[in-house]
Amino acid sequence: MGLRFYNTLTQQVEAFAPLHDNVVRMYTCGPTVYNYVHIGNLRAFTFQDILRRVLRARGYKLDHVMNITDIEDKIIRDAAAAHKSIFDFTKVYTDAFLEDTAALRLEGPERLVKATDHIHDMVTAIKRLEQRGYTYESDGSVYYRIANFPSYGQLSHNDFSGIRAGARVDVDEYDKADARDFVLWKAQKDGEPAWDEGIGMGRPGWHIECSVMAMKYLGETLDIHTGGVDLTFPHHENEIAQSEALTGKQFVRYWLHSEHLSVDGQKMSKSLGNFYTLRDLIGMGNTPEAVRYLLASVPYRKKLNFTFDGIKAATTAIERLRNYRLRMETAVFGEGLNPALEDRAAAAVKSFDEALDDDLNTAEALAAAFEYIRDTNTAMDSGEFRAGNTGAAQDFLTRFDSIFDVLNPSVKSGGLSDAEVDALLSERKAAKAARNFKRADEVRAQLAEQGIVIEDTKDGVRWKRQ
Ligand SMILES: [Zn+2]
Repeated sequence: MGLRFYNTLTQQVEAFAPLHDNVVRMYTCGPTVYNYVHIGNLRAFTFQDILRRVLRARGYKLDHVMNITDIEDKIIRDAAAAHKSIFDFTKVYTDAFLEDTAALRLEGPERLVKATDHIHDMVTAIKRLEQRGYTYESDGSVYYRIANFPSYGQLSHNDFSGIRAGARVDVDEYDKADARDFVLWKAQKDGEPAWDEGIGMGRPGWHIECSVMAMKYLGETLDIHTGGVDLTFPHHENEIAQSEALTGKQFVRYWLHSEHLSVDGQKMSKSLGNFYTLRDLIGMGNTPEAVRYLLASVPYRKKLNFTFDGIKAATTAIERLRNYRLRMETAVFGEGLNPALEDRAAAAVKSFDEALDDDLNTAEALAAAFEYIRDTNTAMDSGEFRAGNTGAAQDFLTRFDSIFDVLNPSVKSGGLSDAEVDALLSERKAAKAARNFKRADEVRAQLAEQGIVIEDTKDGVRWKRQ
């Protein structure tokens, strides 16, 4: 059936094809860099990483843009409290975001762009909106007049036909689901950072950032726009209103939104003490791979309930995968090839791919992988698995890990590299051969200290990271 996604705009599952050639033009709303990202944010970014990998696995090239929101109400407030310029303040959290996403093995977008590098482009867009009659000025700020954009509400499927023209909001965060004219350019208040671009000293509103940066790099019509479900209204609705008022063309063809994450069934919040960043979880002894696995394991349109049992189960699942790979790489199998197991591998590939094609059903894809691994382990136990079957079995693992990317352990900083472990193992072997058991034990202890477990098997020494 091919790759298909649920499109928030049409409320349908639709077959996916890019507008131009083989290139997918995609935009993701990036972080507002005033703090460390929490695991709810990271769930949305993990979803777009899985999306990228599946698109590439289906042969598409990617042109993916993500913004860094580095000018915003909370940034101004917190930078002032920290007695830092917004540039020094946001650099800390931009760097932290890059470190956290790298630890989770999230592929970077082709372009990561900062709002403050595009102020001039935003002002140009605001002036064009003004020429087209979509704006009005009040107290030095410029607002978007929603009443002039009749299809407002098309994405969030709300009927805003009765909106009160002239009711304005100029903060970056709304909490009510009512439509109010939103700010495009905010007049400077005392002590706030501001730009002089010929429309009064001020700064852009949050919504105009994304419209401008998306269209600057990706053209007037994007294939895919992703974000957390909380961004659907008003942020994405406002992006559509701005972009389509500017171009008269459809802004985005497929809108994909990832659901919320809760912790132990509750909304994550600092006051409940259940608020976690990746750094918190790693500090508690969890691996980034286990966090990645857990965040990826629930299909993106389902709510994800984060629990510590869940992360334990993710750790166990990864260990099973690694043990299976180790067995395949180190066990000695009988000669020949069992055709039934080749068919089993082909069936596993089919189920795995079909699950991901079905709106990225990661839970089904994982189930297909573990059923196949269970069957293959059984065949290894009974001797039915032959040396000739390892190629297809390895290929399946490669395919699996090109999406889930959890097989290779993260090397702790200061830890031993694979080559260093191998060198120590050779030394231990030589020590044993020379009957220097004291040295051999020392090496084993040294490796154990670094979390390297070694097993002496009839086929030789195996090792793995804990
Ligand atoms: Zn955005």
